[in-house]
Amino acid sequence: MNERTEGEICLVNMPLSSIVRPSLALGLLKSVLQRDGLSARVVYPNLWYLEYAGAQYQSVFMTPRTEECLVDWLFAPTAFPEHDGAVEAFLDMLFTNHPELLANTGDDPRQHLLDLRARTPEFVDWTARRILASRPRIVGCTSTFQQHVASLALLRRVREIAPDVITMMGGANCETIMGKTTHENFTWVDVIVSGEADATIAPLCRGLLRDGVALCSDDIPAHVFLPRHRDEGYPRIEGNDGFPRGTTPILATLPAPNYDDYFFREIHEFLYRDHLRPGIPYESSRGCWWGERSHCTFCGLNGGGMGFRSKGADQVIEEIDGLVDRYGSRRIETVDNIIDMTYFDSVLPHFAKSERKLNIFYETKANLKRGQIEGFRRAGVNWIQPGIESLHTEILRQIGKGVATYQNIQVLKWCRQFGVFAFWNVIAGFPGEEDQWYEEMATWLPWIEHFQPGNFCQLRYDRYSPYFNRAADYGLELRPCRQYEAVYPLPAEALRDQAYFFTDTKIRLHEQLRADVRPGLTAVFEHLTAWRSAWPTLPRLQWDSDVEGDVVIDERVCATDGRHIVSRLHRAALDACESAVPPMTLRTALSRSDGIDAPTVDRLVADLKERRLLLELDGRLLGLVLDHPEPYAPGQEFPGGSFLWRNPRDRPPTEDVERPSEAIAPGAEA
Ligand code: SF4
Repeated sequence: MNERTEGEICLVNMPLSSIVRPSLALGLLKSVLQRDGLSARVVYPNLWYLEYAGAQYQSVFMTPRTEECLVDWLFAPTAFPEHDGAVEAFLDMLFTNHPELLANTGDDPRQHLLDLRARTPEFVDWTARRILASRPRIVGCTSTFQQHVASLALLRRVREIAPDVITMMGGANCETIMGKTTHENFTWVDVIVSGEADATIAPLCRGLLRDGVALCSDDIPAHVFLPRHRDEGYPRIEGNDGFPRGTTPILATLPAPNYDDYFFREIHEFLYRDHLRPGIPYESSRGCWWGERSHCTFCGLNGGGMGFRSKGADQVIEEIDGLVDRYGSRRIETVDNIIDMTYFDSVLPHFAKSERKLNIFYETKANLKRGQIEGFRRAGVNWIQPGIESLHTEILRQIGKGVATYQNIQVLKWCRQFGVFAFWNVIAGFPGEEDQWYEEMATWLPWIEHFQPGNFCQLRYDRYSPYFNRAADYGLELRPCRQYEAVYPLPAEALRDQAYFFTDTKIRLHEQLRADVRPGLTAVFEHLTAWRSAWPTLPRLQWDSDVEGDVVIDERVCATDGRHIVSRLHRAALDACESAVPPMTLRTALSRSDGIDAPTVDRLVADLKERRLLLELDGRLLGLVLDHPEPYAPGQEFPGGSFLWRNPRDRPPTEDVERPSEAIAPGAEA
């Protein structure tokens, strides 16, 4: 092993975290520390663990949802050897939810996972010694989603081998009461930073290096939990869950992240480097400008710090250009909850004109105009997450999304038109939802199967969301997802304070997916499943450019004709409904442009609806026919990075994109 001392601070990215891009959190902390004259090294045991387990485990690790805690479970005996988790019950849940794992892990998948779990202490010991070989005085882990138990396992081993080394944790899993609970119960962690650490990390590390963990705490902010708090009690605040979190009010003060360790060392040494197409994470804003006004009821993002802050366009452009030039990847995955709308007139035009030709991902609200989707495409924003969680306006109203179904559908149409890949979902199981709403959805879903399909998933309940904060108001009885019990050695009350994901004790959606119980929901589920399994093949519904006159090619299963020959006025009506418009607006438009009266317009509309070329939603008419749709960018150019190694047992490679990062997983998106 070729180790050398590079700094007194070692920042660690444990499994499970994406192997196809560096850690934004640690890259940013490294930059901040460097600016303050401190040097830090960032290491990536998440890459090392895949080498240890074998590349075939990448799809195994990525298959279960975060709340199923697979990787936490793999590290649990190392972190908590005294805990006798319910092993068989955990595996039963895993394989019931994911029978496909049976195909991906070999002949005896249960035994494979048990073997890997039994070998993981050896990996953690090796990792701890490898990190300590460079003689750091502080070892700090970032913990988001499934990194928590692996981080606790590593820091426990570090404490056992080198008791003088200061151990530290931060990240989304350490926010407020979760950070306090971790700190209180797992005493080998000296310091926990709750919330945003970038304004705190440099003075904190300087103090720790100077005075040790017993440092005078007068100048240490309340969102840093120290050993003395275990005896004295933890800092409290009014509001949220009573525990503080750090916030950086002005992002312009932050430097660009430094990813040198990942790009210049780690991936060069990575066994599977030839299969890696790394992306570059970038943050242009924090918080959510929509959530400030109307907190979507399921959204647990930002740990109570919803206030929107963004970098200026010049800073964004300069930093992205700088990262692309330094690291040689043109794939930029922004981690913003929601794009700053001013970027449509500043950042995006710059990248549209740039010779760099980037592939960018952004999350956005769905109430966009056609020109804005085209602006995405021209700028290289070829992947978006437009925050589509339902296709029924009553559900959208109840969850506070601030959009109607017609807006979601027209965004999907324009994404297909301009070749912008949209991650979207139908989330089911909202409190108070009615099956009739799904029955209505199911009547017209086949009409849009020429657009790109989305996912069907069950609602989960996240800490900090309105569903969590006001559970009783929604008739919910929440408890931590059951998998936590198999992982953490905590009593029920502490487990509730540690958990991020919750389930309702009454709603069992999987038991309702039967035509005799929830016919509407079942129909939507079956349609979405068939639609997705056909992807990337899509039927065409578009103007035929090879013939004279106005002819529509229609390959949808629901087509009333394979070729619709339509009149000039039919075409004029469809063109006027390029954006969804009320019937009165269409009548006025066609009266002005073609001099036809309202009854004639109504007959055109009735005919186009009969042919399923025009969809009426929310009292508006939306034309469904595309005009020379542009192709999607190749899947391996996904901005978040790709791992192109394929398990021989997996289905053959397609142009489908890799699963998006957990930051944009269903149920947690803009
Ligand atoms: S779901 Fe998206 S739009 Fe809604 S509050 Fe959360 S981040 Fe904002």
